[in-house]
Amino acid sequence: MAHTDQQNANSLNSEPTHIDGSYLVSLSFARAGVDRMFGVVGIPVTSVANHALALGIRFIGFHNEQSAGYAASAYGYLTGRPGVLLTVSGPGCVHGLAGLSNAGVNAWPMVMISGASDQRDFGRGDFQELDQIGAVKPFSKFSAKASDISQIPNCVFQVLNQAVSGRPGGCYLDVPTDVLHQSISKSEAEKLLAEAEVSSKQEANETVDYAKIEKAVSLLRHAERPLIVFGKGAAFARAEDPLKRLVETTGIPFLPTPMGKGLLPDTHEQAATAARSLAIGRCDVALVVGARLNWLLHFGEPPRWSKDVKFILVDISEDEIELRKPEVGLVGDAKRVLEMINKEIKDDPFCLGKSHSWVEAISKKTKENVSRMEAQLAKDVVPFNFQTPLRIIRDAILALGSPAPILVSEGANTMDVGRSVLIQTEPRTRLDAGTWGTMGVGLGYCIAAAVASPDRLVVAVEGDSGFGFSAMEVETLVRYQLPVVVIVFNNGGVYGGDRRRAQEIVGPYKDDPAPTSFVPGAAYHTLIEAFGGKGYLVGTPDELKSALGESFSARKPAVINVTIDPYAGVESGGMQHKN
Ligand code: ADP
Repeated sequence: MAHTDQQNANSLNSEPTHIDGSYLVSLSFARAGVDRMFGVVGIPVTSVANHALALGIRFIGFHNEQSAGYAASAYGYLTGRPGVLLTVSGPGCVHGLAGLSNAGVNAWPMVMISGASDQRDFGRGDFQELDQIGAVKPFSKFSAKASDISQIPNCVFQVLNQAVSGRPGGCYLDVPTDVLHQSISKSEAEKLLAEAEVSSKQEANETVDYAKIEKAVSLLRHAERPLIVFGKGAAFARAEDPLKRLVETTGIPFLPTPMGKGLLPDTHEQAATAARSLAIGRCDVALVVGARLNWLLHFGEPPRWSKDVKFILVDISEDEIELRKPEVGLVGDAKRVLEMINKEIKDDPFCLGKSHSWVEAISKKTKENVSRMEAQLAKDVVPFNFQTPLRIIRDAILALGSPAPILVSEGANTMDVGRSVLIQTEPRTRLDAGTWGTMGVGLGYCIAAAVASPDRLVVAVEGDSGFGFSAMEVETLVRYQLPVVVIVFNNGGVYGGDRRRAQEIVGPYKDDPAPTSFVPGAAYHTLIEAFGGKGYLVGTPDELKSALGESFSARKPAVINVTIDPYAGVESGGMQHKN
């Protein structure tokens, strides 16, 4: 799996005769096919990063492990191979937990490796001492500690394998300082690497029950109002081809989850996205592929879904099927299961056709909702609301054609409104706050996307609050000259600046800035200029169009600071009931 150059670089045919633990860590990752690493160096892991570089692994250095961890998690999702995060001990490991937990919650493969205190000094107040194995426990699906240099290769292969096996997630490797400093002969290292490689080769042992495939197809065939829902698990499985075939041979309307968007183009005539409430509220059979029936899908329950809906769930995780108790549960890889479904249908095909009452109802509702939204979007509202700049951004992105940019989106109103306005036409081109609704992922995701897909431009559409979590990483964009354009929707705060009404805040600090507010008119575009990147401040449609045109064609790091009316947004985005 490693490239040839890397294999050459990995061979142990040069002097000296012994290597240390730091080198063996990097060599083990390289041998396992890892070619990118994200992190922050410092005691005791700086030489791990240096060795990684020498072995052909691109090490992307960040300012904060939190962003680096978010990058590693998204890299795992985009490439299908674990993203690797390297951190220092103690506080570095704690900062990295943000990325590790994000990987777990979103079911993305990732490995965090942290240096740890010297084993002899543990418990005596050593430098950056922490029980890291204990700390990562709630946030990782598997963890390992190399307590001796000889354990490094096996531990590295194990954590990488565990991260992608079954439901993907975050795994952790602990490497104490003394182990990084131990040494071993090259021949012994080669032997250990060969053993680790052999023991890590697992046979994919997946058997899907064919009777269940038949039952699923029969349910779909006899449904009056069938629907196909797919999510980021289907995107991770690269299921777009069999999904397209299924949708187009059966004529069944489909609904992507936010990150499922793009597996089939949003512009597809069977897309029910703009008729979401009708589609989920009235369907009688729903085939749900790689998407959990969690809060994002209203738990699959009334009143949003019909109480009689029959679910067919496709998921790699048996636990997920057991939790939801669907009519039919198909445990397996989404791509493979969809291929089996297609095969079963092929012998006796069926298709709803455009004049089918359900297809017509969805299509009619879609057209009504789209034309209502387009009428809103057609207006140029200045000072900017959310819709006007999002329409301009949408059109500029569509004008780029293929390969479509990867869109990163976070923020309350910015992400909510953006989800319906911005259009996804290609698989795995949308990264957003995800299952946890995590704010602060934006810059890390941008960097991961640029590193994972060098042929694509990366466009981030972020609220000013989301941007602020990791704004210093704009320096990382400039340092590596990544083709990332960050568009900041600046409305002066969380949900939009100082929104308090006089009666809401009393007491001795009532004149302090409101909890929702930031400095009004913050010059975010000048942050990137401090490092030599390009900044734009825009407040009108023409200014925005010109900044997008210039920055998209330059394919260089840029921040576009878009002034938004502080009163345009609503509190909590579209989720007021939870706040
Ligand atoms: P979304 O946020 O798009 O609704 P979720 O993260 O809730 O998606 O669900 C993704 C689901 O996909 C998880 O339950 C995960 O177990 C599952 N999954 C991950 N990889 C695969 C795969 N290769 N095939 C099928 N399901 C998968």
